[in-house]
Amino acid sequence: MSGITILVIDDDASIHTAVERRLRGVVDEVLKADSPTKGLQFAIRERPDVILLDVNMPQIDGFKVCRHLQENPTTHDIPILFLTADDKPENLAKALDAGASDYISKPFNAVELEARVRVALRTKHMIDLLRERARIDALTGLNNRAAMDDALIAATAAFHRTEQPLALLMIDLDHFKTINDTYGHGVGDDVIRKVGMSIRAGCRPYDIACRFGGDEFGVILAQTDTACAEQIAERILDEINKIKIRAGSDEIDVACSGGLASATDMPLRFEPAELLKAADEALYTAKSEGRNRLAVAEVSD
Ligand code: GH3
Ligand code: MG
Repeated sequence: MSGITILVIDDDASIHTAVERRLRGVVDEVLKADSPTKGLQFAIRERPDVILLDVNMPQIDGFKVCRHLQENPTTHDIPILFLTADDKPENLAKALDAGASDYISKPFNAVELEARVRVALRTKHMIDLLRERARIDALTGLNNRAAMDDALIAATAAFHRTEQPLALLMIDLDHFKTINDTYGHGVGDDVIRKVGMSIRAGCRPYDIACRFGGDEFGVILAQTDTACAEQIAERILDEINKIKIRAGSDEIDVACSGGLASATDMPLRFEPAELLKAADEALYTAKSEGRNRLAVAEVSD
């Protein structure tokens, strides 16, 4: 495991220092939040591997913070270890019922802290692995890149065998970095989630929608000739362009570009990677011609 980050949410700065000293060598970075609000913001923005959460904080108690973390799809896979000075069994039970994976009594023992954090990191690693194996993108619930690669191989083979038409639409959000930079990663994640929902809603049951990575999505349009694929692609892009995200008093407009490649316009016996390249090149054309549009790959001889 590399780049392991934990977040400590505690109003007592001496706890931050103690955790940092004791977990040196176990984790790469210790993020510190001295209030529940900052802690929640950090958790959403940085998506740490484990969160150490103080139960007793002045503004919002740890149980409430825990519930917020559990309810937010961006943070609900992160194991939470409660830090508690009160280790009465009923309080510990309450912590575990609230969704914590474990607890550590304060003042903590260095060996115990390290051991419990290691267990939580193992749990997080397993969750990530299961997500990957389930081939589901955690943020959107769409197919992930590995699932898309396999689906494209299968769809290309089916096209060569049966000549059932097939098209591939690649979508990339326009100026998405500006949304992240202006409103933060949490809002950026919200945009990606909503785009995922919109793409899924715009697909027919036999289309395969994927998050290709970052702000790029792919849709394998089965049983669809070029003209029909173009209509579906325009409809999907239109729906994405209608998304509005609230961030404080601002309303963010989402825009995207699309590249479409159709199997019937490809050279004979093309490979899946060539269809992907053709759709990606069309996407590049859409971007360079001003964005917020669909471009269709040229027909090959
Ligand atoms: P363009 O119009 O040319 O596509 O510009 P862009 O600003 O959208 O740039 P680009 O597509 O190259 O950048 C995608 C950005 O998406 C870069 C990266 O920081 C951000 N990103 C990637 N994955 C995630 C994620 O899971 N959440 C958030 N919030 N941002 C992400
Ligand atoms: Mg982009």
